[in-house]
Amino acid sequence: MSQTKPAKRIIEIKPVTDVDAKIYPRSIQGHFQRWRWFFVGLTQLVFYGLCWLPWNGRPAVLFDLDTRRFYLFDLVLWPQDTIYLAVLLALSAFALFLFTTVAGRLWCGYTCPQTVYTEIFLWLEKLVEGDRPKRIKLDAAPWSARKLGIKTTKHALWLALSLWTGLTFVGYFTPIRELLAGIAAFTLGPWEIFWILFYGAATYGNAGFLREHMCKYICPYAQFQFVMFDRDTLNITYDRARGEARGTRQKTADPRALGLGDCIDCSICVQVCPTGIDIRDGLQLECIGCAACIDACDQVMDKMNYPRGLIRYSTENAVANKSPRSEIIRRAFRPRVLVYLSIFLGVALATAWSLATRVPLKVAILRDRMAMSREAPDGSIENAFNLQLTNASEKARRYIVRVEGLPGLALAEEPVLDVPAAAIGSAPLVLKVAPEAAGSGAHPIHITVQDADDPSITATETAKFWLP
Ligand code: SF4
Ligand code: SF4
Repeated sequence: MSQTKPAKRIIEIKPVTDVDAKIYPRSIQGHFQRWRWFFVGLTQLVFYGLCWLPWNGRPAVLFDLDTRRFYLFDLVLWPQDTIYLAVLLALSAFALFLFTTVAGRLWCGYTCPQTVYTEIFLWLEKLVEGDRPKRIKLDAAPWSARKLGIKTTKHALWLALSLWTGLTFVGYFTPIRELLAGIAAFTLGPWEIFWILFYGAATYGNAGFLREHMCKYICPYAQFQFVMFDRDTLNITYDRARGEARGTRQKTADPRALGLGDCIDCSICVQVCPTGIDIRDGLQLECIGCAACIDACDQVMDKMNYPRGLIRYSTENAVANKSPRSEIIRRAFRPRVLVYLSIFLGVALATAWSLATRVPLKVAILRDRMAMSREAPDGSIENAFNLQLTNASEKARRYIVRVEGLPGLALAEEPVLDVPAAAIGSAPLVLKVAPEAAGSGAHPIHITVQDADDPSITATETAKFWLP
């Protein structure tokens, strides 16, 4: 199917007016709201639950800043493995670019913490104060014992959830059971107290008060993501050709005979919008892609016996060309998307391969700086080193050492190389060789450390052996 000639895209940026006006979004049920709540449940199950999950005698996910180790299920990452965390961040950023190019503000609408917590806080607000008309009425009413009681209850619930969120956040850095025991015994450290309160206050302020202002005026991602959009990006779209001219009418009236489109101008799509915009004005920076207006309008269309989808997920090209869904899907795999996808999959597979083949042993060889070499009582020449072993597994291990690189090169004495689980051990290593094995100077040698029980765990390092 032919596509329209790409036209200059216009994204409306409205002047900032009445920033402080409070928005009272009307509750709405529907297909997309069920998906939103599914993602609220899923993300919060992971966030609140993962820090409680025991794994190998410690939490499944733990950033242990004291020992500078990051535990992720069976994986133990050390400071020298920071590359994996950097790659993980880069992959997350790339995934965001990819999803934004294909499907617009999916992240904002369904999984962004700001949106998710605002949704939970709004749910608590509705639970305590009632739906939109009751909330508007309560706020407009003068202060009374009843109003004070309702507002206190709401803020107490918000504060409890915020503090629990702060506690959970810190629970990824200090095991959460220790944290709770510390609270009970009043032995929490100052940094733990600070971060629980700070993260809790941020949650309370962002989800309780800042809400849509965060998305509209503060979040940098919201400001620059439009550069990733093109005419085939899936967005929440009002079908202007079908909806206009808007206007009220009897349910039984024929809109075409009245010169009207399908929009009955009921404004319910505006009332449910958490950012208070009118999607009929076109694609706007303020739209967080929550799809509440789709569910609202679909219900109106059902009541009027009109087809659903006056507001729907679609692309600019699809709306302009009245393209079927199959064409939207075909255009989703356009060259730009395929390039993003290839880079993402390439880096993800390379990282997965690197992690799967990663040997949980790191060896560092430090030369004894007191003497380059020395003569042993039996006439051989000795070089002394210090062997530093990082056991990156969660099992205590015993290692053996092999050396090669010079004729007759051997260990002067067998080092004891027992390293506890997830720990660093060191031991002196003395090597000897006959003086006539090679000429004077430095000679490269290879020192191999191997797990005594598992030969696949092996690491070889190069060092220099000095002969006088
Ligand atoms: S909900 Fe639908 S019919 Fe009602 S004003 Fe919005 S677009 Fe028009
Ligand atoms: S316009 Fe629709 S999708 Fe956008 S924020 Fe408002 S309700 Fe959500």
